[in-house]
Amino acid sequence: MDFAFTPEQETFRVEVRRFLEGEIKLGSFAPGCDAWIIGHSPEFSRKIAAKGWIGLVWPKEYGGQGKTYIDRLVLTEELLRYGAPVASHWFSDRQMGTAILAYGTPEQKAELLPQIIRAEVFFGIGMSEPGAGSDLASLQCRAQEQDDCYVLNGQKVWTSGAHAFTHLYLVARTDPDAPKHKGISELIVPMDLPGITINPIVDLTGHKHFNEVFFDNVRLPKKYLVGQKNRGWYQIASQLDFERSGIERLMSNYALFQSLFEYARQTKRDGRPLSQDPIIRHRLAQLAIEFEVGRLLIYRVACVLSQGKAPNFEAALAKTFCTHFEQKLACEATQILGHYGTLLASSRRVPFSGYATSSYLFSPGYTIQGGTSEILKNIIALRGLGLPSE
Ligand SMILES: Cc1cc2nc3c(=O)[nH]c(=O)nc-3n(C[C@H](O)[C@H](O)[C@H](O)COP(=O)(O)OP(=O)(O)OC[C@H]3O[C@@H](n4cnc5c(N)ncnc54)[C@H](O)[C@@H]3O)c2cc1C
Repeated sequence: MDFAFTPEQETFRVEVRRFLEGEIKLGSFAPGCDAWIIGHSPEFSRKIAAKGWIGLVWPKEYGGQGKTYIDRLVLTEELLRYGAPVASHWFSDRQMGTAILAYGTPEQKAELLPQIIRAEVFFGIGMSEPGAGSDLASLQCRAQEQDDCYVLNGQKVWTSGAHAFTHLYLVARTDPDAPKHKGISELIVPMDLPGITINPIVDLTGHKHFNEVFFDNVRLPKKYLVGQKNRGWYQIASQLDFERSGIERLMSNYALFQSLFEYARQTKRDGRPLSQDPIIRHRLAQLAIEFEVGRLLIYRVACVLSQGKAPNFEAALAKTFCTHFEQKLACEATQILGHYGTLLASSRRVPFSGYATSSYLFSPGYTIQGGTSEILKNIIALRGLGLPSE
């Protein structure tokens, strides 16, 4: 087995790095934690689009590049390494475009995929509701057929970026009388339709990145149904595999990882570099081991995707391991920094201390968003290990 990248992939990685370093020098962004989910910059996404880096794996007939999932992983790994503000196009590129490719009508593909690739439209994920998170099939948001429309009524919650996206990829109940998994459909909702209200939710860090979204008699033209009516549940399952399998599940707080090693090398405590303290050394080494294991798990998912297979339990396994690593990193960083690890705004003496604290406060979400670790372990047990269901 050859674990090496091809020369083209190595060249591509260098090209992406040079581009991002150039953008940092130009001042177009400052590296940050969680920038793939909170760093909304349509302008920066359009720069990425101009490079041809959105829809990298999609067919050329829709404007994609027809590249492999490993190529895409090289790209996303570098975008995260530099903490680039890619939230505007991240979900569309990761899963919505892929869902439209798999289930959309020819008209939806012809209209929306090129718009996603040009960074003209941006999608959010409208799945969770107050009473439907892990048990998503309990969702109550209704889409009732009326003339040439679906009329939407109900609520979504924790909708990341709803205030910033042009479209929401919504799952709603289209048959209230069917068994709960069988009456659900997927719909594309332009966010400027009358009857949509978005209320921000403040997270522990003080950010307002996710929202409540209310639908009050929103009239959605029928052309926005994706795939088969009432068969949405089966479509969602494959979408979640894409949602769970990316390297953002390992590198959300990479800026912190990098800064922590730098800090340990440069800082003296009790007259000697922190990196020579045996306990700190071991803790840093352990973090490095877990980062590398996580990276291999994510590359394994990309290999499965490259073979045209669905990375179901592999994605669950990777997300579970990697998000626990991210949490551990945030926790270790606050401890290693001592008092500086409790400052939400970066101090002048430890410029990255703000990363540590905000990452620590954001980190409970890592093992919740995109499916909780408990749910993912059930998937691993059932589909990976073949254990009987509970
Ligand atoms: C930062 C962040 C961003 C998010 N962004 C979005 C978004 O953009 N769009 C969107 O639709 N949603 C989003 N979510 C919501 C997320 O998908 C849900 O929070 C998640 O699926 C869990 O659902 P819940 O919050 O309702 O918790 P619940 O499902 O109520 O779970 C509560 C607890 O019970 C456990 N549990 C539940 N069922 C089982 C079981 N069968 N076996 C064992 N344990 C179980 C869970 O693991 C959890 O610990 C986001 C969440 C976060 C934290």
